[in-house]
Amino acid sequence: MNACMTNALCLVDSYLKESEATVVSVKDEKYVVLDQTIFYAKGGGQPNDTGVIIRGKDVYKVVYVGKFSGEISHEVDHVGLKPGDRVKCVLNWERRYKLMRSHTAAHVLASLLNKGTGALITGNQLKEDHVRFDFSLEKFDKALLEEYLVKANNLFGTDVPVKWYELPRKEALEIPGIVKMAEAFPPNLPMLRVVEIVGLDRQADGGTHVRNLKEVGKMKLVKTENKGKNNRRIYFKLD
Ligand SMILES: [Zn+2]
Repeated sequence: MNACMTNALCLVDSYLKESEATVVSVKDEKYVVLDQTIFYAKGGGQPNDTGVIIRGKDVYKVVYVGKFSGEISHEVDHVGLKPGDRVKCVLNWERRYKLMRSHTAAHVLASLLNKGTGALITGNQLKEDHVRFDFSLEKFDKALLEEYLVKANNLFGTDVPVKWYELPRKEALEIPGIVKMAEAFPPNLPMLRVVEIVGLDRQADGGTHVRNLKEVGKMKLVKTENKGKNNRRIYFKLD
C-alpha cells in the first residue's frame, strides 16, 4: 500500500454506493484517475470493486481498479472519458458488500486462531463466493478448526461494532497483535489505518469492513488443505 494521492472515499465510508467525481487524467484512453473515488483498488488480499462511471448518457463499465504510483486507476471498457469530465460513480454494491462481510469474517477467524493457538496468517484471498485463508500452525487438526468456526459463528450473531480509524504509526505498532500477517508489515507511512472489532481485535488494515458483526452472517467450512506447517489452508464461505 502506497500513500495515495486520490482521495479514497471507500476507506473513510465503506457504505458509499455512489459518488460524484472529476476525471483528473486518462492514460492510454482507458485508465482513468479521479479526484476522489468509492472504488476499492485491489490490494491486501481484497479484490478490486467493479461498477460503472457515468458521464451524461455514457456508461463506462469499470473492469479493474488498481493502485499505480500512488494513484488509483480505473480501467474502463471503452474510450471517451477526458480530463475535467464530471462523472457519477456507482458501485456493484452486491459484490462489494459480500467482500466486506467476508473480510470482517476473516479478521474474526484470524483473531480467534491467533489468540487460541498463536497462529499467524500466511496468506489470504477474498473472492466473491469464498475466502481462502492460510496460516501457520504446529499441528493440523480439522476438529480444532471446526471449533474455531463455531466460535466465530457465535460472535456473528451478536451486536459487536467494527470501527476503522488512523493512528500514528508508533502508537499503532505498540498494540499487541496489530500485525497478524506473517510477512506483510504495514506500509511505511506516518499514519496507519487500524480496523477494530470492538473488544476482540485490532489490526493494521487497508480493506473495507462491515460496521457490526451482526451483518456478517454465518460462516461455512468449504474444505481444508494441509500444505505444511506454514500453510494450513482453509476455505470458507458465507451464507
Ligand atoms: Zn484485512
